[in-house]
Amino acid sequence: MTSINVHGLTVAYHRKPVLSDVTFELPKGVIIGILGPNGAGKTTLMKAILGLVQRSTGEVSVLGEAYSPKSNKVGYVPQRGTVDWDFPTDALDVVRMGRYRHTGWFRLPSKKDTVMALDCLKQVGMEGFAGRQISQLSGGQQQRVFLARALAQDTEVYFMDEPFAGVDAATEKSIIALLTELKDQGKTVLVVHHDLQTVTDYFDWTLLLNRRVIACGPTEEVFTTENLRSTYGGKLAFLDKIGSR
Ligand code: ADP
Repeated sequence: MTSINVHGLTVAYHRKPVLSDVTFELPKGVIIGILGPNGAGKTTLMKAILGLVQRSTGEVSVLGEAYSPKSNKVGYVPQRGTVDWDFPTDALDVVRMGRYRHTGWFRLPSKKDTVMALDCLKQVGMEGFAGRQISQLSGGQQQRVFLARALAQDTEVYFMDEPFAGVDAATEKSIIALLTELKDQGKTVLVVHHDLQTVTDYFDWTLLLNRRVIACGPTEEVFTTENLRSTYGGKLAFLDKIGSR
């Protein structure tokens, strides 16, 4: 069975097309990289699948069902933006928000939810920060808290938009280990990322995107010079470095 099916997806902002007739199918239980230059529509694609973009046409399904934001089947780590909330919210509160689909918005989290949220903080190496105000954490630490929040959602599919942005090399390694663990549990992880080397080394599938789908399939098949040229256009200097075929 496939994890995500997208057929004929077209998105426009202010009547300017951003994604045109995007069609692809992704398998289950793999890590998939979405790659493309800035402005290629990678974030828009994730948001459109999640029903967060108003002006879109086409068909989208997640795990065989039309996706609705309320179904909450996808744990989502949005693109990083520094959190500067001026109301008191600690890291544990943020992670427990991931449990609301289990508790409902207007119920207090149970002890089990708290235990699970603490475990998710531990998985991202942030167990010592549970009581810290989110606005006082660094960008990389906030990123890890949002990753923990997605883990707390305990879904079959995860979308992560640049999860390595602003984290150091050691944290990046531990996040990759975490993604691999999710995959080993049969979960599907879709990651917007820009480092071709990481994608070649760790991601099973790749979707090359530049406003339309350039290629989608197992990473070793997709990473051809021709496909990468079509995706990145003239910005080819870096291709030599990754030893593409
Ligand atoms: P990527 O994630 O690949 O960098 P995005 O999906 O963020 O690309 O953006 C694709 C294009 O859509 C860009 O030209 C961007 O400026 C535009 N865009 C993104 N979000 C909006 C928005 N909310 N309103 C108008 N234009 C947008």
